[in-house]
Amino acid sequence: MTTIATNLQQVADRMTRACMAAGRAPASVGLLAVAKTFNADAVAQAVAAGQRAFGENYIQEGVDKILALRAALPDAALQWHCIGPVQSNKTRLVAEHFDWVHSVDRLKIAQRLSAQRPAHLPPLQLCIQVNLDGGATKSGVTAGQLPGLLRAIAQLPRLRLRGLMSIPDPAPDFQAQKAIHASVKRLFDQICASAVPGLEDFDTLSLGMTADLEAAIWAGSTLVRVGSGIFGDRPGPLR
Ligand SMILES: *Cc1c(COP(=O)(O)O)cnc(C)c1O
Repeated sequence: MTTIATNLQQVADRMTRACMAAGRAPASVGLLAVAKTFNADAVAQAVAAGQRAFGENYIQEGVDKILALRAALPDAALQWHCIGPVQSNKTRLVAEHFDWVHSVDRLKIAQRLSAQRPAHLPPLQLCIQVNLDGGATKSGVTAGQLPGLLRAIAQLPRLRLRGLMSIPDPAPDFQAQKAIHASVKRLFDQICASAVPGLEDFDTLSLGMTADLEAAIWAGSTLVRVGSGIFGDRPGPLR
């Protein structure tokens, strides 16, 4: 087996153990393989090991990989999730190439994504990024801003609201990781229980990375985003 295949198996085992510990069905949590800074060949190795859903932070880098993989493996039916910051000048690339976007925290970006989503593609699946633990400089909306943004995005024809995403600051220990993830889960549950129209498919809680996936699954994550645990340490300073 390649290292990537071995790592994928280890991450799957961690996820299964975390689900058992939390009394959850293993099938209730999906895995997004975060390939940022790794090349198309690394993604192809993960595909060969059975992985189908991939996350990318840097939009142009992601689009290059999407096109390379489509050419190399036209029948693989891969799913691509944009999980990095989306500036206005990159919305068209996201709308034209990705299946999901997790990192929307402004109505203007959502409006552009909806307007630019090509007619021949299904609606872009969208999670709103929330920020419950960081300062104002961090991406993501506060709990107070969320209902208004949800209502506005629900009106946009070419987007489908799927859930919430969060990137908590690194927490010192397991208890602290659980506490912050649990606060996002409570907000998610409140929205699911609310009467906001347009939330028929609101079923995704995108929470947890290599370092904290157990805490995220304990709290209720339905989709963990794992990079270094699958592809290895990323070289150099993050761009
Ligand atoms: C890089 C990144 C990940 C994966 O992080 P690892 O610690 O390598 O697992 C997950 N989500 C987002 C938004 C990221 O930027």
